[in-house]
Amino acid sequence: MNIFTDYEHVIRLGIFLSLFIILAGVEFLFPLAKRKCSRLRQWSVNLSLAFIASLLLNILLPLLAVGAARSASEHSIGLFNMIDISYATAVILALLMLDLLIYGQHLLMHKIPLLWSVHRMHHTEIGLDVSSAVRFHPVEIIISMLIKMLFVVIFGIPAAAVIIFEVLLNGLALFNHSNLKLPRTADKFLRKFIITPEVHWIHHSEAAKETNSNYGFNLIFWDKLFSTYRDKPAVDYPLMRQGLKEFGTEKPLSLYKLLILPFQKV
Ligand SMILES: [Zn+2]
Repeated sequence: MNIFTDYEHVIRLGIFLSLFIILAGVEFLFPLAKRKCSRLRQWSVNLSLAFIASLLLNILLPLLAVGAARSASEHSIGLFNMIDISYATAVILALLMLDLLIYGQHLLMHKIPLLWSVHRMHHTEIGLDVSSAVRFHPVEIIISMLIKMLFVVIFGIPAAAVIIFEVLLNGLALFNHSNLKLPRTADKFLRKFIITPEVHWIHHSEAAKETNSNYGFNLIFWDKLFSTYRDKPAVDYPLMRQGLKEFGTEKPLSLYKLLILPFQKV
């Protein structure tokens, strides 16, 4: 456990980069749709956004969610730290609760205009690929972290659950944003449990009613439970338009335009 704790950041970065490279290779071989812009352009913009966001996070909220969980546990703060519950049960419950939290948070990002002005940047991608998983405005990343830290402290979420959840979330986000056409049977089987690329691509469709569906990131269960699940797009994937009409769906936006986007009136 000590080795894992000491090298946690390196291990997590290693898992992220390995998955990124594997999925980039597979989406190159089996694309769901033709690329809309060069890899160099898309990756440099999206990875720069991720770098800026993680830099700001470490400056503004250096404790992060894992630190908040450890601190809550040391001071016996939060529901799971106060009640008699086995560690394993707390971890499993916490994983489900965190997944429901990000489902609800994502839904609110679409429904509340102020939050949408921040989240819409993620939806300006005109053609998803594996790098779109990290295309979030730094302000959204900071808001998400604040919500998660608050949630972790209130419920006394175990640090192990936070780490497992973040690794799963990053991994599945890379997977379901990727431009990857899975064999029909594999997609059909996987989407019984998790969000597959075909499911998440519908959320990135230019059509508003499709954007306002499939809010989940990991488990598909929440979308089905709250009737926000849509199983196929009106226009098939190779022809589907992605992005937001107000920012154009043909030309990718520059890094500067993306960074000022939440502060712009449309
Ligand atoms: Zn969204």
